[in-house]
Amino acid sequence: MEVFIPQMAEQVGQNVTLQGWLNNKRSSGPISFLEIRDGQGFVQAVAAKKDLSETIWAEVEKATQESSVIISGVVAKHPKREGVYELQVTDFKIIQLAHDYPIAKKDHGPDFLMDHRHLWLRSRRQWAILRIRDAIKTAIHAYLHQEKFISVDSPIFTPNACEGATTLFKIPYFDLGDAYLSQSGQLYIEAAIASVGRCYDFGPVFRAEKSKTKRHLTEFWMMDAEGAFMDHEANLKNQEGLVRAIIRHCLANCQAELAILERNIDNLKKADAPFTRYTYTEAIKKLHELGSDIKFGEDLGNDDEGLLTKDSAVPIFIEKWPKSIKPFYMKRDPNNPDLVLNDDLIATEGGGEIIGGSEREDDFDLLSEKIAAEGLLGEEYQWYLDLRRYGAVPHSGFGIGLERVVRWISGTEHIRECIPFPRTIGRLRP
Ligand code: ATP
Repeated sequence: MEVFIPQMAEQVGQNVTLQGWLNNKRSSGPISFLEIRDGQGFVQAVAAKKDLSETIWAEVEKATQESSVIISGVVAKHPKREGVYELQVTDFKIIQLAHDYPIAKKDHGPDFLMDHRHLWLRSRRQWAILRIRDAIKTAIHAYLHQEKFISVDSPIFTPNACEGATTLFKIPYFDLGDAYLSQSGQLYIEAAIASVGRCYDFGPVFRAEKSKTKRHLTEFWMMDAEGAFMDHEANLKNQEGLVRAIIRHCLANCQAELAILERNIDNLKKADAPFTRYTYTEAIKKLHELGSDIKFGEDLGNDDEGLLTKDSAVPIFIEKWPKSIKPFYMKRDPNNPDLVLNDDLIATEGGGEIIGGSEREDDFDLLSEKIAAEGLLGEEYQWYLDLRRYGAVPHSGFGIGLERVVRWISGTEHIRECIPFPRTIGRLRP
């Protein structure tokens, strides 16, 4: 019977067939230990010369790392490890014999591995990260639908900036001048909420980030959620609900993956509790007490975020930032016109910022003023201003960076491992 590796637990004593790849082989005379991978899991198969025909044993001996194979055998419980199963090989066939797989056992540097990303994805670690990434996406879709958000896709070619002109990728667009790759679909889903009430987009966005950090990609996946009649407070609650749902989903569905990555599960469990909130002003004060020399009015750097969260078991919201360092669409704080009703969410354990959100300016005059003051091209934003001309409502939303969340949940140091094929300032291939 053909099975996937995780189903072997229900087949003890039965003869099953797996299709996959030879991850590793260790031989000791007439016994060969074959580590097989089938996409769903990893398992050890034991081939004994005495139990196999000469042809089959020759095939086992010939097989090399990363050859694709079909293997049959009897499922047995591992003699020592609880919950682990083995295959006692009865048949073995090579589909394609791999020659000199370039990622050998020895340690390779990150550049070598990144150049071979198309092959590196097969390693246990990368397998675990890919699956955690998928689980996070699943959790996001499920949570948002539960909260009555539907998915509405936003365009990637756009005529205008959403998050600051310095990180725009420009592309010639037929006779219409320049187009830009989207930095966020927010403005478009703001339009869609007047149709469907609550919605989100989820796809690649692009930022010409010149900095080389462990947290920035030039192409990353962002989920923007937007809700009509949601104020700043409701926005924070929704973000917290989402992030806690992601944690719970991963803890419930990615135990094997988190174990491979040696992620501290207890810390993740502890993060699923009410999040701390600081205003920007409180955060700056706290940072000064902790020894930072950040000045009021500056953005928090990586070190500041680390300092602020180092003793916190739960993520921290920093809300109500100076309007001078935040984008034009954020709503001004009615209690202090120098501040806006926004938040950044900083993850625990060095995860850094994972969300940026705000209540949006819904007043036509204030928004027009902001657009003009920032020197943005008025005609490009007329459609966006229309949303304040025809049935404006209080509304809020946020953007969550998928790879930042993958990095945090999986405990991966560098964001380049958190997307299948990373794009950074120095990498476009493979
Ligand atoms: P940062 O200050 O960390 O550069 P930002 O303030 O520019 O981020 P936002 O514009 O608020 O980020 O974007 C929303 C979310 O998108 C961020 O909270 C983060 O999770 C993610 N994000 C932003 N820029 C990048 C990037 N270059 N690579 C990966 N994720 C990013």
